[in-house]
Amino acid sequence: MRRLRQVMADGGDRQERLDKIVQLIAASMNTAVCSVYLRRERDDLELCATEGLNPDAVHQTVLHVGEGLVGDIAQHKRPLNLADAPSHPRFAYRPETGEDPFLSFVGVPVLRGGDMTGVLVVQNSEKRNFADQEVEALQTVAMVMAEMLSVSGEETAANGSDPDAAQLFKGRGLTEGLAMGHVVLHEPRVEVTRLISDDAEEEDARLSAAMYKLRRNVDDLLATEDVSHAGEHLQVLEAYRMFANDRGWMRRIRDAIATGLTAEAAVERVNNAMRARLGGRRDAYLRDRLHDFEDLSNRLLRILSGRAELASEDKLPRDAILLARTMGPAELLDYDRKKLRGLVLEESALGAHVAIVARALNLPMLGDTRGIVNAARDGQEIILDIGSDEAHLNPPSDIVEAYSNRARLRARRMQRYARIKHLPAITRDGQEVRLDKNAGLMVDVDTLGDSGADNIGLFRTELQFMVSARLPRQNEQEEVYRAVLDKVGERDVVFRTLDVGGDKVLPYLGLAAEENPAMGWRATRMALDRPALVRVQLRSLLRAAAGRKLSVMFPLITTLEEFTESRDMLFAERDRLAKFGHKVPATIDVGAMLEVPSLVFQLDQLLPQVDFLCVGTNDLMQFFFAADRGNPQTSDRYDFLSLPAMRLLAQVRDMCAAHNVPVSICGELGGRPLEAMALLGLGYRRFSLPSASIGPVKRTVRSVNTKRLEHAVWGAMQKNRSDLRPLMSEIADAQGVKL
Ligand code: PEP
Ligand code: MG
Repeated sequence: MRRLRQVMADGGDRQERLDKIVQLIAASMNTAVCSVYLRRERDDLELCATEGLNPDAVHQTVLHVGEGLVGDIAQHKRPLNLADAPSHPRFAYRPETGEDPFLSFVGVPVLRGGDMTGVLVVQNSEKRNFADQEVEALQTVAMVMAEMLSVSGEETAANGSDPDAAQLFKGRGLTEGLAMGHVVLHEPRVEVTRLISDDAEEEDARLSAAMYKLRRNVDDLLATEDVSHAGEHLQVLEAYRMFANDRGWMRRIRDAIATGLTAEAAVERVNNAMRARLGGRRDAYLRDRLHDFEDLSNRLLRILSGRAELASEDKLPRDAILLARTMGPAELLDYDRKKLRGLVLEESALGAHVAIVARALNLPMLGDTRGIVNAARDGQEIILDIGSDEAHLNPPSDIVEAYSNRARLRARRMQRYARIKHLPAITRDGQEVRLDKNAGLMVDVDTLGDSGADNIGLFRTELQFMVSARLPRQNEQEEVYRAVLDKVGERDVVFRTLDVGGDKVLPYLGLAAEENPAMGWRATRMALDRPALVRVQLRSLLRAAAGRKLSVMFPLITTLEEFTESRDMLFAERDRLAKFGHKVPATIDVGAMLEVPSLVFQLDQLLPQVDFLCVGTNDLMQFFFAADRGNPQTSDRYDFLSLPAMRLLAQVRDMCAAHNVPVSICGELGGRPLEAMALLGLGYRRFSLPSASIGPVKRTVRSVNTKRLEHAVWGAMQKNRSDLRPLMSEIADAQGVKL
């Protein structure tokens, strides 16, 4: 290691240093061959230096990622240790290298930040496996080498990048909106500059001290965790605690220290290896665990290097756009929402926990934005255009200008909504309209008062289950529901029982993948087949609402019996609690969600049994039109403002009126002003909307005269045109409806 450090310190050009390194490794590991392959553009691996193979092959031999043993190591980012390399099925013979006499082979990936930058190989003539310590040592050297290549600027030179140059990144919009602001790197970059240690024992002691502190930190976080965030934070933090106490992790770091690395470098090496192993996995559960693990590694690195814990609150600009490779939901909630303008992650998909939280916070967010963390620096200007799936880093002035205009228009609109937010949603002819909001996390409940909504018309209980690493226990569920009820006070909240299964995956339930998840074993279907799960939830709700009003509704009801069985289960739980002397809710309202067309034709039987009906248009429309709501190719193909959909909802509304059952619309549809106008025209008076839609829809409601509107909408439907959108726009124009 010391000699390696000497080579690095000596300078010289890159080739000279690479040559010296391979000589040094071959000599110190007592191998006949040591070669290094570096990644070139377009995923080729070029033999850049060798000791022991034919020197003429240097810069001549090239393998693709995935080709031969070297390509295999690069592709899977994991070492290969072979006693007889030529007999391996992936072996690719390259005559120009003259490697015929060499049988034993060890290759390790050269990784930097989890990215593969090359492959380092040693070979010997006798047939034997290398010892684990030798493989470890080679990995350590590979890490030092990766650092050397990057410090000497070769990597950046290859990219030809100026750090302040304008760059456009493509991502995937996971929420909505537009954001302009300044970059804040979520994890202040801890550059591990000292890789080689002087004293392994001292490094080991530093590691133990830091690990102790890390465990204490996590325990403290758990102990002081505010109950109001219980649902979102606690389980995530518990997963951290599990990792923090994982002996395997500690042992791997120790092993790396034993090869001559500093404690920081050892943590980074173990993290790189983990990222390389799990980074490409599709399994959402494993990816989430990797995020937890990376987060802990970073915390440990910051403790070791004495750096700030996280992007510090007081230094946070008022227009912060957070950038991170990955982020857990709890970490996002740690930031002051008032200062956040947006979030960009290199990884993360629509269903990711952090995306669920970002949606609840109404925060513009891009996921899947590869390469942005390494390219960006704190304080740089950045624009997020979620609609176009783009992030402009260091945007040129014309782009800034264009977006500033858009942002100004948006801000003006927002101001208009803010002005009417707390006015009642009453139409011009005095009809009261109930505008509730959809919620699912405690942050949604916290913002109820500020949103201008009357109540919570749909509380999606599955979100608590989705952001946690394991099934929330009864007392944890109860705590969350109690906190929700405490916070809403006099207002109403309608709890929807678990709507999981299908694409709302809870990895810890270990459910089998389905071919058509939306139409699969989900929601109430699953609840009735596996009653234990929903019984615990019902019990938690009943206990949390002791002495108060409880409203519960069941999702995806397809047959009358599904509703009656679910309701009976709820009352059986209530009776059981009462029998054991527990206080039960003062009143219980039970409703069904209308999300499946078959239920429309059972409304005459269902409505006498329910206290209210809630139309989940997101699902109802996808089943009505047989168009997957999550697939952009189908989701916008059929318009709600068309005769069949409007007729369907007119029929539902009429049936509910005839049975005197309150009905609300709780899908995203009701949040679009023109659609909301059409629904008002059909006679709907209750809506539960995404938070951001309350302002725009309230403005529409307050501009409407329902008598005139109902008449016009009814008239338009008599024209027998299948496409009603143009007619609805004409009505809005003619009646001065604000959209
Ligand atoms: C719906 O389907 O309209 C609904 C509100 O439920 P979710 O979007 O949670 O499926
Ligand atoms: Mg639904």
